[in-house]
Amino acid sequence: DLAQIGVSGLAVMGRNLARNLARNGFSVALHNRTSAKTKSLVAEHGDEGTFVPTETLEEFVAALERPRRVVIMVKAGAPTDAVIDELVPLLDEGDIVIDCGNAHYADTRRREADLRERGLHFVGAGVSGGEEGALLGPSIMPGGSKESYATLGPMFEKIAAQVDGTPCCVHVGPDGAGHFVKMVHNGIEYADMQLIAEAYDLLRDGLGATPAELAEIFAEWNSGDLSSFLIEITAEVLGHTDAATGSPFVDVVVDEAEQKGTGRWTVQTALDLGVPVTGIAEATFARALSAHPDQRAAARAALPGPSEAAQKVPAEERDAFVDDVRKALYASKVVAYAQGYDQMAAASTEYGWDIDLGAMATIWRGGCIIRARFLDRIKDAYATERPASLLVAPYFRDAVADGQQAWRRVVAHAARAGIPTPGFSSALAYYDALRADRLPAALIQGLRDYFGAHTYRRTDRDGSFHTLWATPDRSEVEA
Ligand code: NDP
Repeated sequence: DLAQIGVSGLAVMGRNLARNLARNGFSVALHNRTSAKTKSLVAEHGDEGTFVPTETLEEFVAALERPRRVVIMVKAGAPTDAVIDELVPLLDEGDIVIDCGNAHYADTRRREADLRERGLHFVGAGVSGGEEGALLGPSIMPGGSKESYATLGPMFEKIAAQVDGTPCCVHVGPDGAGHFVKMVHNGIEYADMQLIAEAYDLLRDGLGATPAELAEIFAEWNSGDLSSFLIEITAEVLGHTDAATGSPFVDVVVDEAEQKGTGRWTVQTALDLGVPVTGIAEATFARALSAHPDQRAAARAALPGPSEAAQKVPAEERDAFVDDVRKALYASKVVAYAQGYDQMAAASTEYGWDIDLGAMATIWRGGCIIRARFLDRIKDAYATERPASLLVAPYFRDAVADGQQAWRRVVAHAARAGIPTPGFSSALAYYDALRADRLPAALIQGLRDYFGAHTYRRTDRDGSFHTLWATPDRSEVEA
């Protein structure tokens, strides 16, 4: 019998995705560049469903029913191209190639156009949730043609995470839309983690509390509006004691954050689209800063901080401080999501993707790293018409209004105490800039006109104007 779907690339992600498909009743052809991974999968998990192990790509392709559905789950970048190049000559018109790796959406657009020309469907599908998600139910964000989704969608919807009976998988839009949304998901994940880390830092320093005590605070937060996978595992990580030293685990980990690049892609893309994603950018830069130990050591030795006295929160204010930090975290998180949603909206317009933004919140409710209670609220915010910003959607407007004084106190405290809170502070600056009556952008326009004759528009009448700054009377001309 021919297999219903094939998976090529059987490292952690491909292996678990193949097992997930098989466990859900689909017959799965298996292929990996080197056959050891194929053999071990069948040896260890062959009883979970119907696997068809193959050694060569020719054998693999021949094992598939038509139109063929071929999932590629290899290292992103050149390895993905190498597999596609080898695979394509073996396929027939109408076959579907699905890249479930973390591809850059521009690569996906290129590959999709290329395969479309050869009569093949190319689906760039974002898959979130790590190893465990791939096995037990990820959030899946497939792009590509509607036609390909008609045959692929039902399979993906079956293996995806399910929340309240709804699968965490939806057709995102044409060509690179799925990988774009996955990229923004990862960017938001960066912002979310940075904000959580800042909350931890503020509480640890301000309260002088142990990580174990902070674990309890995060566990409690997880029962409220902030309830999410990341808050839940923050409590776990903070509560963990290192076996070798008996110290809190978080104290034995080197404080230099690494990154694989999706945060950077999100920010680069946002710059091109002209969308301010300050939360994601600050999170990405904060990781970069942490990863320069020599520069940090030099600065630590040279740069003074505030006096000791400014740093501790008085005993009688501790509970209020914890509550303030919680509210500041929530408000900053709303900003990060609002910005990420703006970025998806801008790309959707730019590339004609017609992304249903509410549906993105729906498919992120389960399976993925940023899964959270909060996402139901975003789904609701987009249920009727698209708000100008998530921040002005009624639920979020009220929630942030409720927390904004606390937010200001926390950012002020951080500044006084010398605690770096780029996420909290930039989110508040974004909030204040967005709601400002007048922005100093007017002065910037004046300066641009002065030194570069870049012209400006006026508040009192239409047109473009330039002031003759070098003339004695500085008269204005219409440009
Ligand atoms: P890796 O990214 O570590 O890739 C290893 C796989 O790629 C192996 O199967 C390897 O084959 C294959 N490979 C590498 N180079 C080539 C090549 N030139 N030709 C053919 N095959 C090649 O595996 P992961 O399972 O971690 O991730 C797979 C994809 O999923 C990546 O794109 C990753 O970014 C993405 N992803 C990963 C997540 C995670 O949590 N790990 C989460 C979400 C997405 P061989 O065994 O022969 O070396």
